[in-house]
Amino acid sequence: MGGKAATVEKFGHKVDLFAHLLAGGGAEVKKVLEETGKSGTLEIIAKDPVICFVTEDGTHLGFGFEYLKDMLSGILVDTDEELERTYEITLDQYLKEINAPGPLRAAMNVMTLMYFVISAKYASAGEFILSSKKIIEGDPPIGYPKGGIGKIAETFVDTLKENGGELLRKRVEKILVEEGRALGVRADDGSIYEGRAIVSNAGIQATVLKLVGEDHFTKEYIDRVKSLYPSLGAIRIWYFLDTKLVSEPSLVYMPTSMPSKEIREGERNLPEPGGYVMVPSNFDPDLSPHGKQVLIATMSAPAHQKFDQKEANGWFDVLHDTVKKMIPNLEEHIEHVDYRSSDFIAKISGRDGIMDKVGGECIGLSQTPSQVGKNKPDPRSPIEGLFQVGADAGGVGIGVDLAVNSARNVSKIVSDYLK
Ligand SMILES: Cc1cc2nc3c(=O)[nH]c(=O)nc-3n(C[C@H](O)[C@H](O)[C@H](O)COP(=O)(O)OP(=O)(O)OC[C@H]3O[C@@H](n4cnc5c(N)ncnc54)[C@H](O)[C@@H]3O)c2cc1C
Repeated sequence: MGGKAATVEKFGHKVDLFAHLLAGGGAEVKKVLEETGKSGTLEIIAKDPVICFVTEDGTHLGFGFEYLKDMLSGILVDTDEELERTYEITLDQYLKEINAPGPLRAAMNVMTLMYFVISAKYASAGEFILSSKKIIEGDPPIGYPKGGIGKIAETFVDTLKENGGELLRKRVEKILVEEGRALGVRADDGSIYEGRAIVSNAGIQATVLKLVGEDHFTKEYIDRVKSLYPSLGAIRIWYFLDTKLVSEPSLVYMPTSMPSKEIREGERNLPEPGGYVMVPSNFDPDLSPHGKQVLIATMSAPAHQKFDQKEANGWFDVLHDTVKKMIPNLEEHIEHVDYRSSDFIAKISGRDGIMDKVGGECIGLSQTPSQVGKNKPDPRSPIEGLFQVGADAGGVGIGVDLAVNSARNVSKIVSDYLK
């Protein structure tokens, strides 16, 4: 439950599967709570400065909300027409057009990597501008839910149950389709659930290629689905510490070069040092036992569903060395450690077992000009009664905010269909 944005219990800590911050301060999540009469049931915690950049010589530079908002304001556009135009170009191209100074371009590269999990060379400028606007307007601009990132899904499921819904914890093996119409799903225990509308949050490629099957679509649609490409994947290390070693909410060590196509295609063997460390209990102290801390360290990696721990071995060394640079006395305080890579992301999100080189993506489809705005897949599938929700269709924004925005939009489409 919660998918990639889940929180689990481990060694007495509550810990997120992956490092998460909420861009826009959970604005879309708050709208869902308002719309379901649950305002105030989820507390969003703000820490300002939220990120601390650690330089090679060990200097710590706090990155506060005002600075963030000022910086993002520098890339906004004035009109809807201009926004639409910028959807068609990359952020890199746009920054060149507006003669953005070097430091702004460098900062935008880090931002796109953190938010869209691709570099500015590929990100759609318009999609990033709109997402930046959401951050600027967010209250707070960036936040973290009390109880962990998984608290969002847990809160939504409470509402579902209160309204007669049921959480089954079964895996869907097949979406049942007859004569171009979705009729229900078959679960992994063989049971069948019928429905007038089937809404899939497994991602478009897993839904179409694995859960429905190619035979039910035209060749043109299948070719398009296969040609879609994902955001980057990630490797992640949990460090369970016997003391509170880090005082900041999160730390970033800047790579000397940005990952790009090479890393996406898994062609580059080892990355440059660079990485991100998030400390959930520095937002919500109740997440860890008194006097202890868990650090979630991460760096982007190929989204390849077969990029497993063995393949990622050297990458973990690079990330671990980077974390040691940021936190010199780290190793003396480690009680437990846990390594995961893109193959785990693929399993968590149900995107394993589909095409090569995809599945382990952090977000979903890459937010590039050819895959956002009017080019984004339609949440209404060509199969009647089948809908897509989540990062891949129907929304705009960053990570969880994007998925929840999609949920709000797609729920209206599905409600209209069911009338
Ligand atoms: C390393 C990492 C760092 C991230 N950092 C951030 C961040 O800081 N901020 C942020 O906002 N976002 C972040 N994200 C992204 C965020 O987690 C995702 O964008 C968001 O969870 C996408 O939600 P989704 O519903 O589209 O997909 P998912 O989270 O993948 O959810 C899909 C759900 O569907 C279920 N499912 C799939 N197939 C089946 C099936 N056949 N049967 C039953 N169930 C199925 C899965 O089990 C899962 O629960 C990060 C992700 C990763 C991996």
